[in-house]
Amino acid sequence: MASPQPEIGWPRLCREEPRLDELAKEARRFRTTTAEDANFCRRQTWAAQFAAPVAALAGWTRQSAHGPEWLRSDEAHALARKKILRALPPCRGCNCPEAEEVVNG
Ligand SMILES: [Zn+2]
Repeated sequence: MASPQPEIGWPRLCREEPRLDELAKEARRFRTTTAEDANFCRRQTWAAQFAAPVAALAGWTRQSAHGPEWLRSDEAHALARKKILRALPPCRGCNCPEAEEVVNG
């Protein structure tokens, strides 16, 4: 929070890159579609389905030349990652030792 620049913020991020908002909604949908499943792994789902598309949209790995420069910042990537991880249902039955640290880190 000691950043000299104004905070990016999720609404601003989604305004510049609406695909991130779509990904967050997709992530949230797992709460319904996996509600009956005994096992769900937030980390695995993130890694398999969200990590690459998020990296292509936010952070230095961003593939589009469109949009403001701050979309390429680590801060933009960290915020998108946090939001989408939190939209996913929590781990259950997968024995993740540090499920919460993944979300907070
Ligand atoms: Zn897990």
